[in-house]
Amino acid sequence: MSYSSKIEELIELLSQESGLNTESNHKYLKNLQHGFHKLNYAHEYLKDSPTFNKILEEQKIRKSNKDSDKWRKKGTEYIQLQKHMDAFECLTKSIAFAENENSSEAFAARAKLLCDTGYFSACLQDIDRGSKKQCSKTVQESLANLKEKATKYEIPDHLVDFDPLPVITDRNSTRRSASSYIELRTDETVGRHIIAAKEIPAGEILVVEKSFVHTMFPESKYLHCHECLKLCYNLIPCPQCADALYCSDNCKQQAESYHKYECDVSDLYGELTINFIKMVVKALDDNSSTGPEEYYYKSRFTDIATLVTNEEKRNGINLYYPIMMATIGFHDLKRKTTILSDFNISENDLKNLIYECIMIDSINSFNIKKFSPVDGSAKMIALGIYAFSSLFNHSCTPNCQYFFHGRNIVIRTTSNIEKGDECNITYCGNYSPHPMKTVEERRNYLEDVFFFKCHCKACVGVGN
Ligand SMILES: [Zn+2]
Ligand SMILES: [Zn+2]
Ligand SMILES: [Zn+2]
Repeated sequence: MSYSSKIEELIELLSQESGLNTESNHKYLKNLQHGFHKLNYAHEYLKDSPTFNKILEEQKIRKSNKDSDKWRKKGTEYIQLQKHMDAFECLTKSIAFAENENSSEAFAARAKLLCDTGYFSACLQDIDRGSKKQCSKTVQESLANLKEKATKYEIPDHLVDFDPLPVITDRNSTRRSASSYIELRTDETVGRHIIAAKEIPAGEILVVEKSFVHTMFPESKYLHCHECLKLCYNLIPCPQCADALYCSDNCKQQAESYHKYECDVSDLYGELTINFIKMVVKALDDNSSTGPEEYYYKSRFTDIATLVTNEEKRNGINLYYPIMMATIGFHDLKRKTTILSDFNISENDLKNLIYECIMIDSINSFNIKKFSPVDGSAKMIALGIYAFSSLFNHSCTPNCQYFFHGRNIVIRTTSNIEKGDECNITYCGNYSPHPMKTVEERRNYLEDVFFFKCHCKACVGVGN
């Protein structure tokens, strides 16, 4: 089921069961001052809804040897069909679902495919991982045979995922993720926006920024590291759930601070690709030091908190949906995690923060896309939040384009820009044939999703 139809179905169910979705309720919700007032009001309506209660009772996808065996068999079928990407995906699922001491067979199956396809060092890693688990005699023997074969080759693995990250030659003095070619301006009509501080040639790198947080799209979960977004054929899973996978122990460790709260809650937020748990944890953890590695970006939540949510312009579903999600999120976290006591935060403060994060996420996230090494098509990998890149305004004829290196966004000029001119990107989909055929469709989309009427050069003179 696709992402949008899943959301629609959920909203429909919750609306029917709770009765929250009426015009008079919308009006009332809109006038409530704080996030926690809105969540408390919504909870009165949602608390008897079967769907709401089912979500709160749901347990995270658990490991199961039965599922692990099923995926290993599926993987073998793909190997016979020579569909190696699909096979890697299934064998990784087989490892993710295997109950702790039962994964040696799954590791052995993946190690064999890695060896047969020439990924020798990845193969040796899997042999090592598999050997540390309980092994039957047959598995022990096949791991030993594979080891002998894989160690013969010293050629490096040929899995190159992305080119080296571009470098900003002259950094902005206040925004380290930006170049000195641009500056941030604020005015009453357009709010914050980015302008050229001097004449900029085409092809110049303006921004290199690491995502503040990101969440995987379900279809990319078993082929990419959830922390650095690298394509990886030998991911290692979270020991508790089958839902979080990493390319290395290092990435796994980095994800621990937020994943420990995601690990026990409903799968719903992952299925819907919602970032709020990571955002909330990072916001509460904002005092964590920013080391030299953080040079490309500021991880501080204060920058994220200033991004627009257009709360006052929202109506109907755009108004009550984030409130519903925040209500579910709060009660789920409260019931299944220790977040309230760990951060010594009051229930009302946590409600406010969750609501704020869901609102920011709903309007500021970037679709992190990547070109498939198999067929060259652009695939959606994750939804990411970027503090600085979100300040670029939209134009239907943008002079900048963005692309991704793992979790980093890179923004580059596509034409010469005069000093003082605004730098724009498109909000209507990057890398794809323009999804909106007419000016009207495009303007309606921007108004529905981002709550503004486009007055860019391409739209001037069309409508009002
Ligand atoms: Zn990684
Ligand atoms: Zn987990
Ligand atoms: Zn326009």
